[in-house]
Amino acid sequence: MKTELLAVDDFSLKKAEALLRSGQVVAFPTETVYGLGAWAFSVEGIDRVYEAKGRPSDNPLIVHVAPGMDLSKIVTEIPEKGRILMERYWPGPLTLILPKTEHVPLRVTGGLSTVAVRMPSHPAAMKLIGRTGLPIVAPSANTSGRPSPTSAQHVLEDLQGKIPLILDGGDCQVGLESTIVDLTEKIPMILRPGAITLAMLEEAVGEVDVDPAVRAAAGLNSDLVPKAPGMKYRHYAPKGYLILTDREPEQVADFIRQDLAEKEQKIGLIGSDEWIRKVENALDPVRVTAVSLGTGSAMDEIARKLFDGLRKTDEEGLERIYGEAFQRKDLGEAIMNRFLKAASERRISEQTKQ
Ligand code: AMP
Ligand code: MG
Repeated sequence: MKTELLAVDDFSLKKAEALLRSGQVVAFPTETVYGLGAWAFSVEGIDRVYEAKGRPSDNPLIVHVAPGMDLSKIVTEIPEKGRILMERYWPGPLTLILPKTEHVPLRVTGGLSTVAVRMPSHPAAMKLIGRTGLPIVAPSANTSGRPSPTSAQHVLEDLQGKIPLILDGGDCQVGLESTIVDLTEKIPMILRPGAITLAMLEEAVGEVDVDPAVRAAAGLNSDLVPKAPGMKYRHYAPKGYLILTDREPEQVADFIRQDLAEKEQKIGLIGSDEWIRKVENALDPVRVTAVSLGTGSAMDEIARKLFDGLRKTDEEGLERIYGEAFQRKDLGEAIMNRFLKAASERRISEQTKQ
């Protein structure tokens, strides 16, 4: 199959709409990451999504809606706290778990009686979903397990030849997948951290819990089964062996010198500019490849560049990579959730683990 890459305009949107209506898939930009879209009520389209991504079928999909759409076709009820969160953070990077109607196929929800719903804010996503008037499932448009795509180029890398169309809307603004909040219990619970942080949620609706599996070990090496089925899989992994560390730069430099003494290999760093500079200084005159995620004083920039940075470590052919463990607070919680899942090994203190 030939994959077309088109800028977002009337022509390409029309084409995308026709594909979605006929049970085909289309990749399109959202503010979080690029999504692989299919009409949520088309079993054919849903099957194509799972197939193109190589995604396990027990990992449910998020249904994307546009302003003005009738949610009663998708969810049976919206509790008061749900309405408040929609009012406050939609359109935006917040997904809500609610009881599903009979219209929503079990294939969408991986057999669950609940459904995940989100209203993206990216203009292209809003235009596409708005003009079709259809609820659209849109998991990240990557091959399952690879870092999520934050540019049309990333989508092409993974899905060229497997899907008919990619709408190119430039780089994603947020760069991490949406925050997922379960509203089926009395107290809302975060199942996946994202750019809408715990503090932002609490400010809107009071007490909010965090799924213990998210906290425990970012879903890895833990006996706790996460409530969001997708959170149990290893994810985002680069090809190289990634070691996440919060040790002092001098100690990181020691690790690297030792690695090089043992074996000739391509070693690299991924982290903030400031951290990279410190490790490079400690390593001098030894040189390694650095992948910068921007300044450590702007966590939103780190979030935006994280997945692209992980892909760059592949392009550089890095075999062993040391990554900077960031503080797990506010947006750092979402960043570390993804970064920890991508890592093969952690050399971090108890404090950073929490
Ligand atoms: P993605 O579409 O790649 O952003 O992944 C969607 C995430 O939403 C996965 O982690 C799913 O497990 C989670 N998810 C989707 N539907 C539900 C649901 N009904 N209950 C809990 N988690 C869900
Ligand atoms: Mg994904």
